[in-house]
Amino acid sequence: MDLELSGEDVAFRDELRTIFADVPADIRARMRAGHVTRDDIVASQRILNGHGVAVPHWPVEYGGRDWTPIQRHIYTNEIQRAGVPEPLAFNTSMVGPVIAAFGSDEIKDRFLAKTANLDIWWSQGFSEPGAGSDLAGLKTTAVRDGDHYVVNGQKTWTTLGQYGEWMFLLARTAPDAPKPQQGISFLLVDLDTPGIERRPIRLIDGSVEVNEFFFTDVRIPVENLVGEENKGWTYAKFLLGNERNGITQVGTSQRHYADLVEMAATRSTGGRRVIDDPIFRNRLYDVKLRLKAVEATQLRVTASSADGKPSPVSSMLKIEGSRLLQEINALAVEALGSDAAEILGESSGVYGDPVVEYLNNRKVSIYGGTNEVQANVIAKAILGL
Ligand SMILES: Cc1cc2nc3c(=O)[nH]c(=O)nc-3n(C[C@H](O)[C@H](O)[C@H](O)COP(=O)(O)OP(=O)(O)OC[C@H]3O[C@@H](n4cnc5c(N)ncnc54)[C@H](O)[C@@H]3O)c2cc1C
Repeated sequence: MDLELSGEDVAFRDELRTIFADVPADIRARMRAGHVTRDDIVASQRILNGHGVAVPHWPVEYGGRDWTPIQRHIYTNEIQRAGVPEPLAFNTSMVGPVIAAFGSDEIKDRFLAKTANLDIWWSQGFSEPGAGSDLAGLKTTAVRDGDHYVVNGQKTWTTLGQYGEWMFLLARTAPDAPKPQQGISFLLVDLDTPGIERRPIRLIDGSVEVNEFFFTDVRIPVENLVGEENKGWTYAKFLLGNERNGITQVGTSQRHYADLVEMAATRSTGGRRVIDDPIFRNRLYDVKLRLKAVEATQLRVTASSADGKPSPVSSMLKIEGSRLLQEINALAVEALGSDAAEILGESSGVYGDPVVEYLNNRKVSIYGGTNEVQANVIAKAILGL
C-alpha cells in the first residue's frame, strides 16, 4: 500500500533500509529462497541488536524503542520486504516480553540482554499431545521438591527445538486447583538438564522444523520460575496475544506475491505467458487487493491500540493474512504446472522454492491458535454471539 508517510516516517523508513542492508546479501538471498540457517538467524539478529532494532517493542529500559504504531508497522513490513530474517520470535515476541513484564530482577538480569542478542536460543514448550487449542488441558507436571521442581511429561510441535538451548515451559503445579487454568506455572528450563530427550518430527515438505520433547524427573531450580507459582496462565495469555499479532505477515506475502508475478511473467503454458491468462490474472488482482485491505486493516488496528493490548481484530488479521499467504503459494505452484512435481522435495533455489513454501505454509493456519479458534474469538469478542 502506498501509505502517505510523513517526512519523518520516510526518514525513519530509509534509516531502517540502511540498517537492513547491513545484513549480508547471502543471508538475505537464503532467506528469500527459504533456506535460511540457524547461523544466519543468529548473525542477523546480532546485527540488528547492534543497531538497537532487535527488540523495539520491549520496554525502553531493556532495549525497546518506544516507536509510534506507524513506525512499528513500517519496521515489520520493511524487514519482511527486505528478506532479512526477523529476530527470533521465541526470544523477542514471546519469552522476552514475559520476563520483562513479570520476571524478578534477578531473572531479568540473567536473561534479557542474552535473549535480545540471541546468545540464548529459546524454544516454546506449550503444546502437548491432547493440549493444543485446549492448552489449559496440559498434563506435564512440576512437583516441588526442596529448592527444585521435578518435571515429568511431554511437549510437542516445538519449532526449531533442534537448536533450542533453553525452553519456556508451562507445567501443572497445582493439579487440584478448582479450574485447570489456575494450577499452571511458567518455568525456564536449560535443555541440557539431565532427563530431557528431544526427537525430531519430519514434516510434509521434507524438513525437520518441529520436535517433541520428553521430560523424565527433570530437576529445575525454583529460581527459574517466572512470576508467581500457579499464575502461569496469565503470562501465557499475554504471550499468545503477542504471538498472534506477528502472524499476519503482510510483508512476507508481498515478497511472495512479487516473486509470483515475476514467475508468471516468465513462464509459458500452451504458447502464452501464464500472466496473460485472464483467469490467472484475475486471481492475481484479487490477491493483490486483499493484501492491500489486510495491510490497511493492520495499520488501523496498530494505530488504534495505543495501550499495546492485543485487539480481537488480530484474529481477523491472522485468518485473512494466513489465507492470503497460502493462496499466493498455491498460485505459484499452479504457475509452475507439471514442473512443480519435479521440484518437490528438492532445493531449486528458484523463486523461493514455491512447492516447499506451499507445503510448509500449511502451518500458518494452525499455529498461534488455529483459524477455527480465531473464528470463535471473532464470534465472541467482535460479533457478540
Ligand atoms: C508448524 C507448527 C509449529 C508449531 N510450533 C509450536 C511451538 O514451537 N511450541 C508450541 O508449544 N506449539 C507449537 N505448535 C502447536 C500449535 O500451537 C498447535 O498445533 C495448535 O494450537 C493446534 O493444536 P493441535 O495441533 O493440538 O490441534 P487441536 O487443538 O487438536 O485441533 C484439531 C482441529 O480441531 C479444531 N478445533 C479445536 N478446538 C476447536 C474449537 N473450540 N472450535 C472449533 N474448532 C476447533 C482446530 O481448529 C483443528 O482444526 C506448532 C504447530 C505447528 C503446526
